[in-house]
Amino acid sequence: MPHDEAQAIQELLSSYAGLFGFFEAEGEELVIVGGAVRDLIAAAALPAKLDVDFATSALPEKTIAILKKRNLRFFTTGIRFGTISTIHAGKTLELTTYRPDESYTAGSRKPEVSFGTSLEADLIRRDLSINAMALRSDGSIVDLFGGREAIAARKLEVPGGGLERTRIILRDDPLRILRIARFAARLDYRATEETTTAATECAPWLQTISHERWKAELDKLLVAPHPAAGLRWLQETGALREVLPEALPLLESDGFDRWCEALQQLPTEPHHLRWSWLLIGAAIAGGAVADATRWPEVAARQQTVALLADRLKWSNEERLVVSELIAVPFGPAQLEGLSELELRRWVARTEPRVVDQCALLTALAQMSGDTDAMAPFLARVEALSGDATPVPQLPAGFGKVLMTSLALQPGPAVGQAVEAVKQAIIDGRIANRGSAEDYLAWLRNRAETDA
Ligand code: ATP
Ligand code: MG
Repeated sequence: MPHDEAQAIQELLSSYAGLFGFFEAEGEELVIVGGAVRDLIAAAALPAKLDVDFATSALPEKTIAILKKRNLRFFTTGIRFGTISTIHAGKTLELTTYRPDESYTAGSRKPEVSFGTSLEADLIRRDLSINAMALRSDGSIVDLFGGREAIAARKLEVPGGGLERTRIILRDDPLRILRIARFAARLDYRATEETTTAATECAPWLQTISHERWKAELDKLLVAPHPAAGLRWLQETGALREVLPEALPLLESDGFDRWCEALQQLPTEPHHLRWSWLLIGAAIAGGAVADATRWPEVAARQQTVALLADRLKWSNEERLVVSELIAVPFGPAQLEGLSELELRRWVARTEPRVVDQCALLTALAQMSGDTDAMAPFLARVEALSGDATPVPQLPAGFGKVLMTSLALQPGPAVGQAVEAVKQAIIDGRIANRGSAEDYLAWLRNRAETDA
């Protein structure tokens, strides 16, 4: 269906008619800004999916007063930056007071946030012209810096453009370099030459930005539809060397484009999967793709993950999952030869990440063109899921039952007996999810056989 911009705008505005009315009744301007306006014009998202940000001429105290008067809930967590949040149709909305353009006066220390009354100044301080448009309640679009034209030309440039201005904008907040890469990855737009030149000069300043903010942008870049475009631009500007040097070998290798094609096909949830793919790619870059499946240096790769996780302040969960995922134990060429026992042991050890690991294996198979064994392998794995899982599921309190029934003292003997039962389940020698009596009988029988 062709994108009907006017209709999409009306649909979006009608959901917020009440809110616009409250501000206008108090003589204040309220506009929709940033990503929602961009996505509407670029037809990149349906209004229902848009994450909507508002800007207003009202000072934060006045915004609070307006919301209070209408008995609307509000939150002041962002008040330092002029942002008051409220809830609308179950979603959090941010209403931010117009801020003036401070980039010309910014020194090495961040200036205090000050508020302005001009929408124009608020728009020019934004990172990109495509993000610097506003939508008024009457349906008109305020486009002072060529945002619409930039969308049509699929280009990324700062509002106002020009090398000098771009330098100032990027130097003022170097995180914008990563944001530009993220939008390149999301929209497949290209940075203008001036943007690239200024970003190249400013890339070292990324070191002044918190690593949590690096991570947030890189996560978004990797799950975007065109990660290759974002990564390449980061490499071109030297920003990749600043924030993610681990990925450099991959970008410098011939296989990068194909690696990214496979990356684009991996699920975006969990995002660990894409990180894992990137790191596997980086580890094998330069080598023949077929060798991707042999892993003589798992420990070295996990060391890389540990260092990266420290630097990017990954959560313990992210650290653990990526370390496990990158240790792919076998590759497409070995799948056919896997015995049932090997497969059961692998599934038991790998759950709950078998599905993710299968996605990585499928991607590896695509890379090496070795896809024949994939479908039968996935069918065998599927047959070991659900009720047929080899992951041991013992009755609750089994350890205690063991101690009383076998008159064992607490100690290593109990653990060994539990382990023996688990291993027998994994190997398919006894049924999973049996009763305590079944397992006791098996243990007694085993003791007799051993004796
Ligand atoms: P998304 O769809 O991913 O939310 P977005 O453009 O809405 O994209 P946000 O991070 O939500 O991005 O920011 C909202 C708006 O605030 C942006 O469109 C941009 O105008 C402005 N903005 C955000 N971060 C910066 C920044 N570091 N420098 C300048 N402007 C920024
Ligand atoms: Mg947004």
